[in-house]
Amino acid sequence: MSYQEIEGLIARIGKKSGLSQNEIDLISKPEREIVVNIPVKMDSGKTKIFQGFRVQHNSARGPYKGGLRYHPDVGLEEVRMLAELMSLKTAVINIPFGGGKGGICVDPKALSQNELKRLTEAFAEKIADFVGEEKDIPAPDMNTNPQIMKWFRKRYEKIVGKNTPGVITGKSYRDGGIRVRDEATGLGGAAVTWEIAKTLNKKPSEITIAIQGFGNVGNHLAHHLYHMGFRIVAIADIDGGTMHEDGLDYHKTYKDYTQGKKVCKICYCNIHGPSKDCLNVGAQDILELKVDILSPAAAGDQITKKNAHKVKAKIIVEMANHPIDADAEKILSQKGILIVPDILANAGGVLASYYEWQENVQGVKMNYEESINSLIGKMKKATREVLNLSRKQKVSMREAAYIIALKRIAKALKK
Ligand code: NAD
Repeated sequence: MSYQEIEGLIARIGKKSGLSQNEIDLISKPEREIVVNIPVKMDSGKTKIFQGFRVQHNSARGPYKGGLRYHPDVGLEEVRMLAELMSLKTAVINIPFGGGKGGICVDPKALSQNELKRLTEAFAEKIADFVGEEKDIPAPDMNTNPQIMKWFRKRYEKIVGKNTPGVITGKSYRDGGIRVRDEATGLGGAAVTWEIAKTLNKKPSEITIAIQGFGNVGNHLAHHLYHMGFRIVAIADIDGGTMHEDGLDYHKTYKDYTQGKKVCKICYCNIHGPSKDCLNVGAQDILELKVDILSPAAAGDQITKKNAHKVKAKIIVEMANHPIDADAEKILSQKGILIVPDILANAGGVLASYYEWQENVQGVKMNYEESINSLIGKMKKATREVLNLSRKQKVSMREAAYIIALKRIAKALKK
């Protein structure tokens, strides 16, 4: 998805929702874009300059919130688009944050740990004036992790001269993070799936699910769906995967996967006894299986006009960011496939970040059970709101989610 596509969506849906042109302009343009050149002393002794970005999209509903990614493809256009999506995401699940995003154009695998640390500290110095626990709160994203967040926080704290754990979220538990964070996106997706699966009028054990991607999101999603009693009939990671119509045992799948066996190499005869039904499935083929629910939880642009007409699922829950492109969405909608949009389906992670921030900044403590229950409750509620509005106004769930988010941001802008 491009920034222009989101701008187009905001303009079209904003108008339909009765927002004024002024409100649409205020919402679609980022409030601030920061571009910095970061000189870093490499281990060789030479200095290299990296470009870093932070886009602060909208703060009408609260401090900017969004990750920092390290990737050679990171650029202003992409960061701007992701920041805008964060404003919509925090609004659709109704947490008091705005949207932001940042990153550095770098291949982190090409750097030593010391170089990565110096780069992160130098970036923190460059943007320190613009972030803060009540201003803008970064978090881990693609190729960043709690260690990188810790370096960022420590350098920020050195500059401001005080302990400020709430300046970032996604910290390790030892450093003031919360336990539910790691599984939160998958857990949130499972709660959304539970709510949306009610439209199928079947018991969870009769509802078949296929999951593309077995990383952080796909793995935790599979775990929670399995324990909710759904029948996960296929899981595929980048090298492929496996399927069985009786349903896969999540724990056995995960164990084999983490022991280094690729999911595709697992023989499900382990579980079901010798069986001819046991099949491998490719990373792309999984998208075309005849299942009730398909969860693309791997990467963007997986369903395009090339394969959309082959998709047979009744419902698609977008766990990855924009796994369906605009052309494919038209084809899928014509086929009557219900799409649960990413800004709702994968918002569990930012919801957990909010719990972490509340604990650090406002002293609101929740134990693990409480945070799990609260997260499930809030994600189900947001799903019902989006589904009900889409039915009432006869629009797609994506449009309904945008309407809810845009109206909430517009209301906050009036204050
Ligand atoms: P990850 O890197 O942990 O896992 C992604 C997995 O997908 C990897 O195991 C990779 O091998 C696999 N993969 C990549 N391309 C594939 C393909 N074509 N087919 C099958 N498998 C493929 O990443 P993640 O954190 O699980 O994130 C997955 C998606 O969810 C991304 O789009 C990310 O932006 C989005 N997301 C993640 C979070 C979060 O909290 N982690 C929050 C919101 C959105």
